[in-house]
Amino acid sequence: MKKKFAAGVLSVSMLSAPFAVMAEAPFQWHNVNVYETSYDEKDESLFNSENYNFVKYSQLEAKLKEITKDSNRVTIEKRGVSSDGFDMLVVTVSDPQAKGKFGKYQAIRKQMFNNPDKAQAFIDKHPDLKIPVMVNGSIHGTEFAGTDSILHLIDRFSNDNDEETKQILKDHIIVFNVVANPDGRVDATRFNGNGIDLNRDFITRSQPETRQMVDLITEWNPMVFLDLHGYVKQSGGTRQGLIEPCTPPHNPNYQHDLYLKWATNQAVAMEAEIMDKKDTYENTNTAVSRVDYHKMTGTRIPIRDNSSGWDDYPPIFTPMYAMYHGSYGFTLETPTNDWDGVKWMYDAVMGALKYSSENKVDMVKDQIEMFKRGINFDHPYHKEGFFPKAYILPADEKDPTATKKAVEHLIANDIVVSEAQKDFSFDGKKYPKGTFVVEMDQAKAGLANTMLWDGEDISNDIPNMYDISAWNLPELWGFEAVEVPAKSDFSVHTSQVKHVNNDGKLVGKGPYVVPNTSVKAVQLANSLIQNGFTVKRADNGDFHIDSGMNPTLKKLVMDSGITVESGAVPKDAVQLQDLKVTILRDGGLGKVQSHAGTRLALERLGFNVTEKTPRDVAVNGLGDTDVFVYSGSTGMIAVQTSASNREFGLENQAQVTQFREKVQAFVNNGGKYIAVGQQGSSATRTLGLATAGVSSGGSDSNGIVLVDYETSQLTAGYDSTDYGFVYRPAWYTNTGDYTVLARYKNSDDFFLAGHWRDRTGAIGQPVIIKDNNKDVTLIALEAGFRDHTDYLFRLLSNAIYSE
Ligand SMILES: [Zn+2]
Repeated sequence: MKKKFAAGVLSVSMLSAPFAVMAEAPFQWHNVNVYETSYDEKDESLFNSENYNFVKYSQLEAKLKEITKDSNRVTIEKRGVSSDGFDMLVVTVSDPQAKGKFGKYQAIRKQMFNNPDKAQAFIDKHPDLKIPVMVNGSIHGTEFAGTDSILHLIDRFSNDNDEETKQILKDHIIVFNVVANPDGRVDATRFNGNGIDLNRDFITRSQPETRQMVDLITEWNPMVFLDLHGYVKQSGGTRQGLIEPCTPPHNPNYQHDLYLKWATNQAVAMEAEIMDKKDTYENTNTAVSRVDYHKMTGTRIPIRDNSSGWDDYPPIFTPMYAMYHGSYGFTLETPTNDWDGVKWMYDAVMGALKYSSENKVDMVKDQIEMFKRGINFDHPYHKEGFFPKAYILPADEKDPTATKKAVEHLIANDIVVSEAQKDFSFDGKKYPKGTFVVEMDQAKAGLANTMLWDGEDISNDIPNMYDISAWNLPELWGFEAVEVPAKSDFSVHTSQVKHVNNDGKLVGKGPYVVPNTSVKAVQLANSLIQNGFTVKRADNGDFHIDSGMNPTLKKLVMDSGITVESGAVPKDAVQLQDLKVTILRDGGLGKVQSHAGTRLALERLGFNVTEKTPRDVAVNGLGDTDVFVYSGSTGMIAVQTSASNREFGLENQAQVTQFREKVQAFVNNGGKYIAVGQQGSSATRTLGLATAGVSSGGSDSNGIVLVDYETSQLTAGYDSTDYGFVYRPAWYTNTGDYTVLARYKNSDDFFLAGHWRDRTGAIGQPVIIKDNNKDVTLIALEAGFRDHTDYLFRLLSNAIYSE
């Protein structure tokens, strides 16, 4: 057996150090992957230029059982399943006294925001209190090192008895989410089985994996949250890896002063631990990786080392989301995809744990302070009035589905939502008893506000942003949130909402009308069509059910959450068919699968959707599909040269031609073609299916816009001026052969929130156009963006169902 650690390490200190034990058992596991696996797993990721023999998902459970079999400190649980149905393993490690009492510890944690003074008094009395730390493994499937470092950490904390190990266990309960993205590890891809980047899903919570992580965070309210990623290196340089805190802009809804007070030093402590151990790295891969661990002088800590470029602005990332639950949250990016990279991560986590051992009493006091500021509505570092007193969430009587989805979402995120016990008025408007209210004097006010506020235009604050810069749920999910100003004397008797009644209701004898008001309404129409009902669509976009009262109908309406009433079927309403929808699969060009959000939107609308790769379309054509949706990179209709895309893309110029011919033939034969976004629109030109020009407002611009919608079937259900969302904003020129159905609002205040510089050229320009001669619709807005844009999903169903 090869000895893993270099001889240069001091032998005396090694006797009590963890690696003394591990010197016998090398810092990796040989042969762990030799067992039969019951399913097909990838050995390496085409997205990585370097790969190593990481522990396969299918071996994790056995490996965990093996390394913890003699330990009385470990609890192994299966907490939820991934979107492809793989178990999610959670391992909680503590000293034996704490084991089996996690409920008690969680209750003590909840005291922090139910009664912070009591919590603080408890800590003063019990400075030996155990503090939860959560370590999240490999949320990006190709970043294998996170999970492998977790296995080594579990091994150590299960079995070792050195002073350091014992002290950390005395001070902490460590919650390991062993593999946050099982699908991604199995398939060796960044995404989960639905093609979603889970580390962008924390305001939307659209995926089962994200829901599992949100549940763990809200159960434990961990004081420290470490999210294990890769790979950030300085090829040929000496600063290896990256540890947050981030550069500006910081989201103003954080209590950032409290975070920074500890987080920068904790990052420096992680760096110090790595530096302290650097001579023990193997450097086996230096020739390829160009990372020489022995020559490391440190790691990159963005807030210390950079002025911009790695921001924590959108709380869509796991650690940023955890910060709203009081965590000191960090993204850790190991330098290399090999066992040294695993070791770097291990050392970083150890550095964090040692630091929180030393500082836990003061750190947890500041976590409590964050909750206290919320409860006392006392925000010393915010402009007065930044946080409103409350938000009123009035629900539409007939279609309350968007509001109720939001209320359930807020509750699942540990935000207290109340309902009015009596009718009340505010600002001259009456609200009935039962109206939802989010009172902002609560512990997690920052999270509530980041979900409900309008956002801000930060275009001039920073040259560019890493990801989205606006996510306002009311505007993008389509529910009303009335802001009650901080100074208002608003006072309503409320009680906390524990359960939301989502039942819909069928009223009258029929025929019935389903207004085109929400995702749920379209979903209901589609499920009725699929269940054999006659559903007709009127010119105004409403759905008419040509049926009398019927038990199946009643059941489907009840499930929809909508009140459906009787109404005459207009003469010119057109009967809808169960349509086959095909979407072009983007394998992940540029680390995004932009088609995945649109597919999610189409599925949420109730369509049956098939994914086809460009190669599949080139070779086999579109078959009997009725609707073809292009919502992805233009690069999909080019010969793919990069390894990561070769398997999805087109192999040669002949296939590019075939692809173009197959899609053209589909359109010429009456097929419906819909392009979404700047890339989809440009691709349509490349395919010879559009003469309109596509202008772009820059690849890193995004945000919420105001749109002037024409009255048409395609824009039915939207007001004449209403919301839109852009990511790589686009607009159309040379639209003579088209009907223009929507434009950016024709005034310079059309941009509401986000980051988009140099946008004057877009004012009043077309954003939804339909070809007058063929069934080709171009939508420049991001109608189906990562579950952020529920309110815009109906642009897709409108496009599918309009003549
Ligand atoms: Zn990552």
